[in-house]
Amino acid sequence: MMQSPPLLSQEVDVLVLGGGIIGSSVAHELQSSGRQVVLIDKGQPGFGCSYGNAGWMTPCFSMPLPQPGMFWKSVGWLFNPESPLRIKPELSWNLLRWLLSFMAAMTTKKMKKSVEVLTEISKFSLEFYAALAKRNANSFGFDQKGLLMVSATDEGLAAAKLEMELMAERGVAGRLLNRDEVLALEPALKPLIKGGVYFPTEAHGEPLAIVQAITKEFETMGGKISANTEAFDFTFENGKIKEVHTTRGVFAPKEVVLALGNWSPEFAKRLGVRVPILGGKGYSMIVENFEKKPTIPIMILERKIAVTPRADSVRIAGTLELVNQDFEITPRRLNAIRRGAAEYLHLSENPAVREVWRGLRPCTPDGVPMIGRSKKWKNLVYCTGHQMLGLQSAPGSAKVCADLMLERKTFVDTAPFDPARYE
Ligand SMILES: Cc1cc2nc3c(=O)[nH]c(=O)nc-3n(C[C@H](O)[C@H](O)[C@H](O)COP(=O)(O)OP(=O)(O)OC[C@H]3O[C@@H](n4cnc5c(N)ncnc54)[C@H](O)[C@@H]3O)c2cc1C
Repeated sequence: MMQSPPLLSQEVDVLVLGGGIIGSSVAHELQSSGRQVVLIDKGQPGFGCSYGNAGWMTPCFSMPLPQPGMFWKSVGWLFNPESPLRIKPELSWNLLRWLLSFMAAMTTKKMKKSVEVLTEISKFSLEFYAALAKRNANSFGFDQKGLLMVSATDEGLAAAKLEMELMAERGVAGRLLNRDEVLALEPALKPLIKGGVYFPTEAHGEPLAIVQAITKEFETMGGKISANTEAFDFTFENGKIKEVHTTRGVFAPKEVVLALGNWSPEFAKRLGVRVPILGGKGYSMIVENFEKKPTIPIMILERKIAVTPRADSVRIAGTLELVNQDFEITPRRLNAIRRGAAEYLHLSENPAVREVWRGLRPCTPDGVPMIGRSKKWKNLVYCTGHQMLGLQSAPGSAKVCADLMLERKTFVDTAPFDPARYE
C-alpha cells in the first residue's frame, strides 16, 4: 500500500464513522453509557440519506423489503422504469449476488422473524423520540397524529388489512376504515379512495432536525464531532484496525463503528470484508400550495407515495430504485410522484415545489440491518443497512449496537442482525 502523507494523530476511545441518523444515534447511546466518542462525517452530520426522508417514526412500517410472493413482481421491476419499486438493470456480479440473496429472503418464516425484530427496535425508537422531543422543547416537530394507509383498490385494501393483522400480533394496533371514515379523518384525500387502515400512535417530524437534536445532546454529554472529515484509509495490527486515516488527521481508536449507510460497501472493500448493500434511491419534494393541506401522514399504497404534513408545506416522497451509488436525479420519476400525489390529493394544478431531494437507502438483501461485531477485525462494529426504516429504528439499533459492544443484555433477539450472515 502507498504511504499517505503524515497527518496529525490522536488516540480515541470509540470512533464512529458516519454522522447520519444511525451514526449519531450510536454515538449518543455510547457516550451516554460512559464511552468517549468521536463522530466523524465527510460533510455535516445529517446531510446524507437522513436529510430529506419522509420523517416517519412508524413501527407499523416494520416490513423488510423482501416479502413472500414478490418474485415475479421483482422480475417486472427490472423492465418498468415508472414502477414505484425498480431494479436498475446492470450486468454486475454484485447485483446478481444481491438479487439471489434478496430472493432467498422472500419466505414467510424469514419475513416473520425480520418483522419481529424490526418492530421491536422501532417501538423502542418511538419512545426514545417522544422523550427526546420533551427534553428539547420539541425542536424537530415531533407530532403523534398517527398514520393513514389508503388504497383505491380492493387488492390494496386486502394487503393493508393483512399488514394490520401482522402488526397487531406485534402489539401495534390499527383500525380498518371505510371510504367515508377515511375522508372524515383526512378531507385532503379525494373520494377515489376505497378505504384504509389507521394506526393512531405513529409519529412524524423533521428528519434533519432530529439528527441535530441527537448530535446536540451528544455534544452536551461530552462527545466530539468532527465534520467535513472524510475517512479514506486504514492501518491494521494484530487483527485490529490500528488507525483510521481521514482528511483531518489520523485517529487511533480502541473501537470503530461503521455507520456509513449507503457508503458502507466501498469501505468494506478496503477492510477486506463484505457488506452487501445496494442503494434504494428515493425522492422527496417539499410542496407549498395544496388546495386542501393534509394534516395526517398518508401512505398511498398502490403508488407507494408517503405524504407528510409540515408546518407550512407538505413533503411527498416515494420510489425505490435499486442502484449502485447512482445519485442522478431523474425528472421522470419526480413527475411520477407528483402525478401520483395529485391523483389522490387536492394538490393545486401548478404546485410550487420548494425543494427536490434524492437519497440512497442502504438496503441489505434480507431487509435487516447489520448490527454487531466483525469476525475479521476484533475492534470493528457494524451498524448499517437500515433500508427504508433508518429513522424509525435508529435509537433502537443504537441500543442493540451499544449493548453488544458493552456486553450488556439486549432487549431483542440479535441473531437476525448478526453481520456474520454476510461478512
Ligand atoms: C425518499 C426516502 C424516504 C424515506 N423515509 C423514511 C421514513 O419516513 N422513515 C424512516 O425510518 N426511514 C426513511 N427513509 C430511510 C432513511 O432515510 C435511511 O434508512 C436512513 O437515513 C439511513 O441512515 P444512515 O445513517 O445509515 O445513512 P446516512 O444518513 O446516509 O449517513 C451516512 C453518513 O456517512 C457519511 N459518510 C460517507 N462516507 C464517508 C466517509 N468516507 N467518511 C466520513 N463520513 C462519510 C455521509 O456523509 C453520511 O452523512 C427514507 C429514505 C428515502 C430515500
